[in-house]
Amino acid sequence: MAWRLPLVAMLLIGAASCATPIPAPRPGYALCTPCAEAGDLGCIEVKMTPEAVQLQLDGQTAWCCREECRDPFLEDRRAAGRR
Ligand SMILES: [Zn+2]
Repeated sequence: MAWRLPLVAMLLIGAASCATPIPAPRPGYALCTPCAEAGDLGCIEVKMTPEAVQLQLDGQTAWCCREECRDPFLEDRRAAGRR
């Protein structure tokens, strides 16, 4: 039955690689941080322009697809920090 082991290992590795579906952003784009954390891949790429929605996250600038996405995310983080 030892011959089965490599097949099982291959299946496990294949399944693991499918568990991280978040794509790398294209050049000139960033990932929407709230969408990435929520696993929402529909609007995850943000074009990095001065007009794009940004947010400050632990002293770093992050990008966001839209204000309706950023504001609840910041509210959640503020609420979590108060606990
Ligand atoms: Zn978003």
